[in-house]
Amino acid sequence: MSVLDVDLAIVGAGLSGLTAALRFAHARVTEVPLRIAVIEAKDAIGGRTLSTSNGIDLGGAWLWPHDSRALALAADLHVETLPQPGGSDGEARVQGGMSRLVAAVEHAIRALPHVQLRVCLSTVAESVKIDNAGVVVTADNLVLRAQHVLVALPPRLAAHSLSLPIDEGRREAMLRQPIWMGAMGKVGVEFAKPWWRSSPRFNINTAFLPGSAIKQMLDASSDTAYAIVAFVVPPDDAGAMPALVDSVVRDLGALQRRVSGSEDAAIAVVSHSWRHDPFVFAPGPGSPFEHPRDGRDALRAPLRDECGRARVFFAGSETDGFAPGYLDGAVRAGERAAVEIGLELNAAAATVSD
Ligand SMILES: Cc1cc2nc3c(=O)[nH]c(=O)nc-3n(C[C@H](O)[C@H](O)[C@H](O)COP(=O)(O)OP(=O)(O)OC[C@H]3O[C@@H](n4cnc5c(N)ncnc54)[C@H](O)[C@@H]3O)c2cc1C
Repeated sequence: MSVLDVDLAIVGAGLSGLTAALRFAHARVTEVPLRIAVIEAKDAIGGRTLSTSNGIDLGGAWLWPHDSRALALAADLHVETLPQPGGSDGEARVQGGMSRLVAAVEHAIRALPHVQLRVCLSTVAESVKIDNAGVVVTADNLVLRAQHVLVALPPRLAAHSLSLPIDEGRREAMLRQPIWMGAMGKVGVEFAKPWWRSSPRFNINTAFLPGSAIKQMLDASSDTAYAIVAFVVPPDDAGAMPALVDSVVRDLGALQRRVSGSEDAAIAVVSHSWRHDPFVFAPGPGSPFEHPRDGRDALRAPLRDECGRARVFFAGSETDGFAPGYLDGAVRAGERAAVEIGLELNAAAATVSD
């Protein structure tokens, strides 16, 4: 088991955790290297953003005009957006897929000369403990000793899978907060031509297929592929997912015949069931399809050591008060947590110099 000493440990390399790292590092220019470690359970960063090499998003995809912090982050990092074809609310996607935004955040952190960033992939955090010297995060293959830790997971998942020094009331509040889209799946189907654009009277984004497993369909084309993504509710049994994907392809074929009079076979099919992803979905009370609400302090108040210093902070989209569950909420929560950690460091420095 390796042991690593850092200034800030972050659990979760989704958009929220990485945005927090970037904003914290930007605001804290130090002469000695600022050591930040991000622990990520999966073998890649990005969390609920997942884009194919053709820019098709199987996770978070759309940004709306009011998503001001996420749009500002994309603009800061020169990540281009493209308007949604056939969209009516000014919604946009990232050119090349939303994973590009997350990759750009990581790249921007690495470009800061005062930062030593370690991203520990395939490392599952198991517990967070406050001790006299700071915080200890124990993962399956690593122990991190840090001054501060940021838990950047959906609160329900954190309460479910991470041992945290919280009381039962806080744990229950975290379990009550749904994980947005955590129980959904997406199927992306690529075609040689955008047949759904052939009739001006037909808009795939608002079409509905009664009796189909498809809950909603959207034009997900990028600059390199024509594609439709379909939202589906994955079956309880993960083994039944391929049959559901096949049914989506069949239903889109039938729709193509109706809309364009002929059927060209799909050229590629991709899918992801978030519901069967152990680092996204966790069961909790109520329906998993509920929209998260602002959980205020019960979800985001830092945990303190016995001297009153804040040691454990919380981000993750579902801790945000403005856009909980959304990409914008992930960015806002990361930015808020970065400010909180900075204020705590300033307060600690002031105490030492008094
Ligand atoms: C199908 C789908 C469609 C969506 N569409 C949209 C959309 O169009 N617009 C929009 O605004 N939002 C959308 N969202 C929501 C958006 O994707 C999320 O709000 C956002 O990505 C959340 O980012 P996050 O960093 O808060 O959390 P996450 O992305 O969930 O990141 C948490 C990270 O923590 C890791 N992790 C979990 N447990 C551990 C552990 N024990 N140890 C270490 N690491 C761990 C996970 O692997 C993950 O990388 C969608 C989500 C899904 C699933």
